[in-house]
Amino acid sequence: MRVVVATHNAHKVEELQRILGAEVPGLELVAYDGPAPEEDGDSFAANALIKARAAAEHTGLPAIADDSGISVDALDGAPGIHSAYYSGARDDAANVQHLLAELAALGDGADRTARFSCAAALVDPTVEGEPFETVELGVWPGAVAHAVAGGGGFGYDPVFIPEGLTVTSAEITADEKNAISHRARAFAALAVVLRARAEG
Ligand code: IMP
Repeated sequence: MRVVVATHNAHKVEELQRILGAEVPGLELVAYDGPAPEEDGDSFAANALIKARAAAEHTGLPAIADDSGISVDALDGAPGIHSAYYSGARDDAANVQHLLAELAALGDGADRTARFSCAAALVDPTVEGEPFETVELGVWPGAVAHAVAGGGGFGYDPVFIPEGLTVTSAEITADEKNAISHRARAFAALAVVLRARAEG
């Protein structure tokens, strides 16, 4: 089964081949190199579907895509789908500082509960009639730390303390993170759908 991954990041294709390939025999993931659609959905699921649909329409192949971010309760779910540009620029360090400043502005007693979410979408245009579409959501609960810690991961990892841990997700190994993260959870669920489709 040949599936396009709607990302220009070759590293992501490799990571997904490892996660999904173990679950779906005969799965061959290829990177999508066509035009990127505007991500103007109002949820992680909507944006993941927009990306997967664009890749499926452009290639005629089944396509998968994801959309992810961090949501903070005390900030009414912000930055959410705006996580990548929270500070105004696609700059991880600036985004993290902006998040810490927004929480600091709420005072010492602010609730720092947060979660990473990942929506993983599959759009299969190779079926008769309407394309088959599904979205799986993976959530990783935790809290925002008071200061950055750790050199691993990316994005908000240096200030995200996963539930049950006392360190940030930038202080655990990539393998540890990939076993429990929001992305791992979303793609584990998508793997079940893919396997069922591969087996016909
Ligand atoms: P996307 O590439 O549109 O899915 O945007 C995801 C944004 O959310 C990234 O730029 C990060 O800021 C943040 N994010 C998503 N997943 C993670 C993660 O696993 N660790 C840290 N930050 C993340």
